[in-house]
Amino acid sequence: MHDLLQIGKFPPLAQDIIDTEFRCHSLEALEQDQALRTAVRALITRSNCVVPAEVIERLPSLGIIATCGVGYDLIPIELAARRQVIVTNTPDVLNAAVAELCVGLLFALLRQIPQGDRFTRSGAWRHAAFPLGVSLAGKRVGIVGLGRIGKEVARRLEPFGVTLAYCGRTDQRLAWRFEPDLHQLARDSDILILASPGGRATEHMIGASVLDALGPQGYLINIARGSVVNQQQLIEALERGAIGGAALDVFDAEPDIDPRLFELDNVVLSPHVGSATGETRIAMARLTLDNLHRFFEDGTALTPVPA
Ligand code: NAP
Repeated sequence: MHDLLQIGKFPPLAQDIIDTEFRCHSLEALEQDQALRTAVRALITRSNCVVPAEVIERLPSLGIIATCGVGYDLIPIELAARRQVIVTNTPDVLNAAVAELCVGLLFALLRQIPQGDRFTRSGAWRHAAFPLGVSLAGKRVGIVGLGRIGKEVARRLEPFGVTLAYCGRTDQRLAWRFEPDLHQLARDSDILILASPGGRATEHMIGASVLDALGPQGYLINIARGSVVNQQQLIEALERGAIGGAALDVFDAEPDIDPRLFELDNVVLSPHVGSATGETRIAMARLTLDNLHRFFEDGTALTPVPA
């Protein structure tokens, strides 16, 4: 059985599979065992965990960082490439789960489903009518970052009778309209869905000017990363009614959520659970472990991220 450094906590059903196939050690355990620290060749982590550069620097035999998740914005990727450390993620196996959550959040926001639940439970229904919601049919949806997940979202939304457009670095020449200008996409959209990677290139890509372009009847859904949105400016936009509302699965400084978001009635919040179904988490753990097995077999990996 091979040794792994584990950074982050996995759900018990995933941890059970990992522990059956590998021997996991914590950072603290490695610090106390110089020989193991020198020998360990593989690191397993989750996409919401930071892998500090100094950890990579202190593991001379490290050959692979296998993250369970698709985002790798918290891994020092340039350092890994310089050190010839392979980085793997778990693309595709989570597309359906994340797309399903996105559609769920969208309806929760437009039809005020969480508010309706509270309204019904509290007995308020006896005294007043529940406020009208907003239909999805006929709306213009803009997707920022039309990759594996973005496309699954688009395919699921199409039957609801929306018009789709997308923005990214490249025109993928699809049936959906490509709009290279993010502000123009926001102006042309009733609903803006964020499904791009996090990291430096997309940091605060969505700020006050994009939100103003989306407008007071516009809705923002973020299933990408908290870093993609300037959260301060988003909260201000929500407070002053510059946009109609937002549904957020990802935040700055998770899980310490800015409490001003709790005061807003035009937001739906979820605790970064895009891929959090039992089926999906097992599939993600399986692919993570298969990457590690392949590395220990022949030094390659099944799903390496681009260096
Ligand atoms: P992907 O296939 O690599 O797609 C990313 C898309 O973003 C690509 O179409 C890319 O298109 C576009 N993009 C890249 N840089 C961009 C930029 N600067 N501006 C606009 N678009 C840009 O990745 P994926 O598997 O769909 O995953 C996307 C992201 O979803 C992940 O990186 C992660 O952050 C997030 N995610 C969240 C959860 C959750 O629980 N909420 C779960 C899984 C993933 P171009 O190359 O043409 O720009």
